Amino acid sequence: MDKINIFARIHEMETQMGQLHSELGELKLAVKELLEENQHLSIENEQLRKMLKRDTAAEEQAEKAPKASTKVQEEQRPAEEVVSEGYDNLARLYHEGFHICNVYYGHLRTEGDCLFCLSFLNK
Ligand SMILES: [Zn+2]
Repeated sequence: MDKINIFARIHEMETQMGQLHSELGELKLAVKELLEENQHLSIENEQLRKMLKRDTAAEEQAEKAPKASTKVQEEQRPAEEVVSEGYDNLARLYHEGFHICNVYYGHLRTEGDCLFCLSFLNK
């Protein structure tokens, strides 16, 4: 193989590597978007399940005691409990690798810890 030929082949490989590199970048972005969408759907699913469970429970209660207010159950829950549940959800979301800060909320944390998120968690 002569020297010109080797150079031409290396040049060709370099071009192919460049293409692979940009394809890899596109795939990485697509995976990131899928992971984020998956997380959003999981959260939505969980919330819908909770609503469904609450509705079913309220219906069952209404059947047992038709005149009892279905709102009683909701009102009896102390506000502190609701707040700490929200905090736990956010902390869990952060530890699963997602931003919870208002700057990047819901996006995948691709570069380790986020100072915005951490300052939010430490409030
Ligand atoms: Zn963040």
